[in-house]
Amino acid sequence: MTATHVVDHIHDQPMSEVALRSVAIEALLAEKGLLTADEVQRQVDLMDGRTPADGARVVARAWIDPDFKARLLSDARSALGELGIEIPADTPHLTVVENTEDVHNLVVCTLCSCYPRMLLGRPPDWYKSLAYRSRAVSDPRGVMAEFGTVLPADIRVDVLDSTADMRYLVLPRRPEGTEGMSEEELAALVTRDSMIGVTSLSG
Ligand code: FE
Repeated sequence: MTATHVVDHIHDQPMSEVALRSVAIEALLAEKGLLTADEVQRQVDLMDGRTPADGARVVARAWIDPDFKARLLSDARSALGELGIEIPADTPHLTVVENTEDVHNLVVCTLCSCYPRMLLGRPPDWYKSLAYRSRAVSDPRGVMAEFGTVLPADIRVDVLDSTADMRYLVLPRRPEGTEGMSEEELAALVTRDSMIGVTSLSG
């Protein structure tokens, strides 16, 4: 149990049962030579360095560059590379789904907390809650209403269930009246919740 990111926690507070279990698993994997503490720390640092601003930058580029958007929707990993956002080869597949005037996408992980951390950082607590994980599927419009978004009835809502192998990012619709904005200004409009799909930016 020598991984540095765990030791930090040990000094703060007693570890939870779940934390203890993850430390034990990590120690076992290291002992078996399947990974090193350095590799774990590198992944932790990589994820900690990601924030919704990364996703917002991607969305803004897709709004202003239709060719980039097409590449993003067909092969997110390589399109992100164009923006200098590295998605390590050993991380889950990432699919970007586009909201249109006909379809709105909402992302959930019904099983646990799978999330496009490579573009949004750590998920908010509500994303991991049982209430969200169940209600996103049974009543997606009700969930969205609680986030302040009420979609017209003729827009279909597709709920995408993330897995350990597949993560989704929503490409929100570009708000009206933003034609003259710069890429940076557009990125500032893009919220984390709109990229999960619980809100819409286009009213
Ligand atoms: Fe999950």
